[in-house]
Amino acid sequence: MTEDFRWRLFFGNKCPSCQKAKRPRTAFCKLCFLALPVGMRGKLWLHFRQGYEAAFDQCLEFLAVKFNRERYKYGATGSTEGIRGQN
Ligand SMILES: [Zn+2]
Repeated sequence: MTEDFRWRLFFGNKCPSCQKAKRPRTAFCKLCFLALPVGMRGKLWLHFRQGYEAAFDQCLEFLAVKFNRERYKYGATGSTEGIRGQN
């Protein structure tokens, strides 16, 4: 996943895990956020380039496993067009 891609997800209004609405400037929607272990939630407060990327990927993977969600599919350009959720 490219950095720019994560950045856009962060400022977007769609939860990257469940595809439902989320507030911009948050990594996930409230429900997904609350489903994360406390230790992982805390890492999402890290800044970009200072650990956020790895934490975000880890959380996304955790949620995918926990809820048996389809993983993100990334276009060659890292655009959000390739994203497809499940449900
Ligand atoms: Zn969500």
